[in-house]
Amino acid sequence: MGFLKKLFGGLAAKPEKRYFIFQVKCKRCGEIIAGRVDLDNDLSVEYESDGDVYHVRKVLMGTGGKYCYQQVEVGLKFNKDRKLLETQVSGGEFVEND
Ligand SMILES: [Zn+2]
Repeated sequence: MGFLKKLFGGLAAKPEKRYFIFQVKCKRCGEIIAGRVDLDNDLSVEYESDGDVYHVRKVLMGTGGKYCYQQVEVGLKFNKDRKLLETQVSGGEFVEND
């Protein structure tokens, strides 16, 4: 028990906090496309009454290997602790990865 807890605790603390990695699934061909948000540089702040929120917009495209050139537009919203609050995806769907 103690060992496992230590192991997972250690792993969880390791990944760089700076990047938020996510995946979307293309609505047309089903390709999984990975995206990355640089939490230090990509976010713009928006002041809302219940606290600041940070948002970012990304346009992703698959490899086109299946002759699909659908663009997937992703909007993400984070709170000030860089915790994901909201996702908006057009042209595809957000893939939960935990
Ligand atoms: Zn596609």
